[in-house]
Amino acid sequence: MDYISDNYLNKEGINDKELEVFANIYQQLGMAWEFLGLQCRHWDGYKKTRDRKEVCKICGKVRDVDETHILLLVKGHKKIGRKKTPDSKKTFQTKKEAKILYDSIDFHGASLKVDVHNSYKSKLFKKEPDINMAAERIVLLKESGIECSIDQHTINICIGPRKEKGAKPDYGNFAFELRKKDLKHFPVLFEFDDNFKFSGLTILR
Ligand SMILES: [Zn+2]
Repeated sequence: MDYISDNYLNKEGINDKELEVFANIYQQLGMAWEFLGLQCRHWDGYKKTRDRKEVCKICGKVRDVDETHILLLVKGHKKIGRKKTPDSKKTFQTKKEAKILYDSIDFHGASLKVDVHNSYKSKLFKKEPDINMAAERIVLLKESGIECSIDQHTINICIGPRKEKGAKPDYGNFAFELRKKDLKHFPVLFEFDDNFKFSGLTILR
């Protein structure tokens, strides 16, 4: 990159067309450099620079700076990040302090969100005393207007448009609490084994 920069990009009298070619080469080299940098585990340790930063001896990455670029395979299984769960028993003063991860991706038309946080104090309404929000890992998947959220305690599936604010909330009952004739409205199949151990359900659309 230095060679291209010194000998071509900063060369006097170079014409625009040539400049463009070398600018493109420089870009490509930059991409390759970044890719190789992300492959580096900084095995050889760090060295101090003149401005007192510590940089990897191989790739030049500055120590303790997040590696923010994510390069993904075009084909095959893509992997971003590692599984994170709440990591403290402490109740934090603010949501921000309690945050571990809040990230989302749109993947070929489906939306996925992961929210992981420790316990924190929160006000649901002004003037109300603080309540403790529990530590949680919540994964939310949205597809074709259907939302499925999974946390440590519940698996929630929402079908149909979101309720407007102030609208009457829907009922929630266990199946055994409902009358058979009411149950017939629900296109749900329960899956279970010989011992009636619940193993899943299917909702017909
Ligand atoms: Zn490195």
